[in-house]
Amino acid sequence: MVHELGHNLFAIKIRLVGNPLKDLNTYVFLGKERNLLVDTGFNQKECMEDLSAGIRELNLDMERTDVFVTHLHADHSGLAGQIIRGASRVIMGAVDKAFIEMRWYANDGYAKYVTGRYLREGFPPEEFNRAFMTNPSTSLVAVKPYPITPVNEGDTITVGERNFLCLFTPGHTPGHICLYEPEEKLMVLGDHVLFGITPNITSWPGMPNALKSYLDSLRKIRAYDVAVPLPGHRECHCPMNTRIDELLAHHKFRLEETVKILTEDPGVNAYTVASRLTWSIRAKSWQDFPLAQKWFAFGEALAHLDYLAEAGVISRGMDDGITSYRVGTR
Ligand SMILES: [Zn+2]
Repeated sequence: MVHELGHNLFAIKIRLVGNPLKDLNTYVFLGKERNLLVDTGFNQKECMEDLSAGIRELNLDMERTDVFVTHLHADHSGLAGQIIRGASRVIMGAVDKAFIEMRWYANDGYAKYVTGRYLREGFPPEEFNRAFMTNPSTSLVAVKPYPITPVNEGDTITVGERNFLCLFTPGHTPGHICLYEPEEKLMVLGDHVLFGITPNITSWPGMPNALKSYLDSLRKIRAYDVAVPLPGHRECHCPMNTRIDELLAHHKFRLEETVKILTEDPGVNAYTVASRLTWSIRAKSWQDFPLAQKWFAFGEALAHLDYLAEAGVISRGMDDGITSYRVGTR
């Protein structure tokens, strides 16, 4: 389904079947010489159907269309390598490019990191394999390598009359990039700012304090004048900066809640913290959480614990080989 959002600007709705995100917004910017298509959907049949239908409806010549991927997640990058034709490029932030290539060429250091850290932090070993293998980041990614053109902070991508400035916005992933077009005050947000849902923040190798990176990246884009925010999922229902303030407040609340849990129960592990934080999903208790949601909640808890540990508010210890946390120093 294609929507016209502005002059030479369209959105294609891509269904994300079986995923609580529901769908992805693929954006298409038309130019005289070349077009730019932003984000693609999972490497999954339904996503390919929707994307192909949108490409047909817009009559896009894929030999003259580059693909920009805001970040490495499978719902954004999954089909990029399959839809490019001829000399068209897949463009992505340099840091996320390295993560995707690590999976293809270097025996997946990310999987090793997650396995080591999650088990050390108290994720139940009997649930770990199933949670990891059924996660979309493992099951719905592109497995066949394709060349990626890297971009960095300050690079420009020109499409017709539009000049997009690349803004390095790490946090949701280590190499997330937003695009800013100053004439129309338009910003391609990827999953940096979402409306109605909160972008997942989790623990990553090479980004020791993901939540701090994320909050800094929120404050960074808050300084830009944005009239047209273009999020990767759902629609906008308030000005971008209003939503940024809500997200900043959301994480402040969750940090306070984390400290409260550790004050009442010093020495618990990250899995216990995750089970006691307040989540917005409709489940009666932590036991009723779908495994995928436990996985995301656990990652969120880790990111908040890392933030508090680096700030010196809490400290880590070890109990039976599992990391434990308490308020203050030991
Ligand atoms: Zn996404």
